[in-house]
Amino acid sequence: MYDVLIIGAGAAGLSAARWCDELGLDTIVLESAEEVGGQLLSVHNPIENYLGVKTANGRELRDRFIEQTQDGDFDLWTNAAIDRVDLKARRVILRSGESLQSIAIIIATGLRRRSLGIPGETEFVGRGIIESGARDRELVKGKDVCVIGGGDAAAENALLLAEVCPTVTLVHRGRKLRARREFAEQLPTHHCVTVFPESVVHRILGTEWVEAVEIERAGALKPFQMAVQGVLIRIGFEPNTDFVREQLELDDRGYVVVGPQQETSVVNVFAIGDVANPLAPTIAGAVGAGATAAKVIASRLKK
Ligand SMILES: Cc1cc2nc3c(=O)[nH]c(=O)nc-3n(C[C@H](O)[C@H](O)[C@H](O)COP(=O)(O)OP(=O)(O)OC[C@H]3O[C@@H](n4cnc5c(N)ncnc54)[C@H](O)[C@@H]3O)c2cc1C
Repeated sequence: MYDVLIIGAGAAGLSAARWCDELGLDTIVLESAEEVGGQLLSVHNPIENYLGVKTANGRELRDRFIEQTQDGDFDLWTNAAIDRVDLKARRVILRSGESLQSIAIIIATGLRRRSLGIPGETEFVGRGIIESGARDRELVKGKDVCVIGGGDAAAENALLLAEVCPTVTLVHRGRKLRARREFAEQLPTHHCVTVFPESVVHRILGTEWVEAVEIERAGALKPFQMAVQGVLIRIGFEPNTDFVREQLELDDRGYVVVGPQQETSVVNVFAIGDVANPLAPTIAGAVGAGATAAKVIASRLKK
């Protein structure tokens, strides 16, 4: 029996673990991925807006977080696949069969990339569909690529790929790009980049490797196929709440609804970080919410 069971070891979960340890709470952290850090691992730009520390990228900040938590007196299990959770009983059963119980649960499961749900999207992962314009661009160097999405991440990735690809076609649903001005101004004038607004990709086609995408453009009579050998999808994020969907109050987009003390609709169950913060997801917000939840739990347990 633990005092606190934290699910997720991104910025929020690690902060909560650090605070729970400092407050003398017997704590375990379960992380489904191989390594801790969550979204920080996919931040390739410098982080300069998290007060107190500037880092070259998210991984460096994650490493600082590890430095400050690794001597902590709490359990941290990575590759921890959860089979089911009973929030009211505050019990978690892992796929390995282990059953864990705690007085309080903190949900810190963050966000995952939204998917399109179109044919070809899962089949061609690693075979033309790339995850990151920074990390994977050697895989599509010299190839024609399609980037799907109209926000900052799509625009930034399109510009990164345009450094190594002869053509980059950015396809997005809206009339205007949602990306910040710096990107929105550069894209249409870049000699390798073509922007297709009010357009939707219906299918990703190929045999061994991606060969084309099928696009429908507003005003066009019918969808057409465009030859590409690389695809990158950036259409936003959604919260990792499927595993608790039936058990606590979520908003219409699936984010956990919390009160000012990060408490959820279930007694002694808290939610912190991006999973409970649809409006302003930030590292500072995630770290702060972790501290709040830990302090509230400690005061309830009178530690
Ligand atoms: C490209 C990019 C750039 C960004 N730049 C900035 C910036 O400059 N400044 C800033 O403040 N913010 C920035 N952010 C946002 C910031 O990274 C996030 O707000 C913050 O990292 C969220 O932390 P989190 O712990 O709430 O969630 P996450 O980082 O999403 O972590 C959640 C963790 O939970 C784990 N998990 C999920 N489901 C389960 C499960 N069922 N069981 C166990 N574990 C699970 C995940 O594997 C993950 O490790 C950026 C984000 C991105 C993607």
